[in-house]
Amino acid sequence: MSEIAIIGAGMAGASLAAALSGAARVTILEAESQPGYHATGRSAAFWSESYGGPLIQPLTRDSAPFLAANGFLAPRGAIHLADSSGRARLDALRAEFPAVPLEPLDRAALEAAIPGLKPGWDHGLAEPTCADIDVAGLHAFYLARARANGARLVTDAGLLGAVRAGGRWRIETGAGRHEADILVDAAGAWADEVAARCGERPLGIAPYRRTIAQLRVDPPAPADLPLIIDADAHFYFKPEAGGRLWLSPQDETLSAPCDCAPEEIDIAMAVDRLQRVVDWRVEAVERKWAGLRSFAPDRLPVYGFDARAPGFFWFAGQGGFGIQTAPAAARLGAQLLLGLPHDALTERLDASLYAPVRFMRHP
Ligand SMILES: Cc1cc2nc3c(=O)[nH]c(=O)nc-3n(C[C@H](O)[C@H](O)[C@H](O)COP(=O)(O)OP(=O)(O)OC[C@H]3O[C@@H](n4cnc5c(N)ncnc54)[C@H](O)[C@@H]3O)c2cc1C
Repeated sequence: MSEIAIIGAGMAGASLAAALSGAARVTILEAESQPGYHATGRSAAFWSESYGGPLIQPLTRDSAPFLAANGFLAPRGAIHLADSSGRARLDALRAEFPAVPLEPLDRAALEAAIPGLKPGWDHGLAEPTCADIDVAGLHAFYLARARANGARLVTDAGLLGAVRAGGRWRIETGAGRHEADILVDAAGAWADEVAARCGERPLGIAPYRRTIAQLRVDPPAPADLPLIIDADAHFYFKPEAGGRLWLSPQDETLSAPCDCAPEEIDIAMAVDRLQRVVDWRVEAVERKWAGLRSFAPDRLPVYGFDARAPGFFWFAGQGGFGIQTAPAAARLGAQLLLGLPHDALTERLDASLYAPVRFMRHP
């Protein structure tokens, strides 16, 4: 059995550890004292097949059966909403996703679905298959499964450096030394930094801040309100327990990897945008947070061995879709890592799309 050290215990590291455990000796090394503290614990928690682009859609699609069968999805539905300026975007979205159910909605249908909708928002596309994801439940499930199969999670174990000698990684962490045959970089916003600390070349994976505010609104947000997504990507919002609303301005601000916090300007922008859409009164911003979504230069995830670095495996760049794609991504990642063939879950996936070699044409 190979010994595998996974750096990072967010959704990426936890799901991959679960998929590998039993077939390899896995240790997850996590810098924080609590796994899931960064992007994974800050998501908007939705599954949408049209989110992330057409080359993400297969990963999202093939993750759904596992998520549904294990009770991690709850029906939500989504409406892509446009005023006259965004209307062409709706047509483009339908053309981009021919296999995703996206049904045009007229003004009357939009008014029925979104109480208090302001004039001008006359165009919509319903995406009925959109669902809420139980992110904490899914993350805990993966960690428990990994542990049950013998994987070890070490917290407060930030990787400080690693060297490869004699076909093994010698890894220095805040919680002591570890050795492994294979090192997996599942460090989210820190993926490039971890590679550099291992003496490997970064791929250009960049973190971008995204903000969410939890609002108390009057009237309270209906519990069955779908996720409302602006066709021009200026906002999305969905209801939360007790008539509250989760609202994002869909900001995307380049950031250093860090424990990021929301900026007042982004909260104000989000509220302003909401007030252009519905006539609800915003009574309070009850909670606000921000997290980092990390993208490779082509905005596709990176799964696979680094052709220039023996024993170094990338599992990074999960962008804004790392929860909804986790089951298929983890299975594919485990197969690539262990040299196993595709199975029923992954047979429709093209792993070459996500291979790190695409960034290494000119070594
Ligand atoms: C506001 C927001 C909304 C989102 N909404 C959705 C959504 O609705 N649906 C969806 O699918 N996705 C969504 N996402 C994206 C999703 O959250 C991410 O794609 C996913 O959580 C990435 O998981 P990860 O494990 O790669 O990263 P993280 O959860 O950030 O985990 C990386 C881990 O690596 C650890 N680490 C870093 N450096 C080191 C080191 N040197 N040594 C050891 N450990 C280290 C960190 O401490 C961290 O725990 C959203 C993200 C944000 C920010």
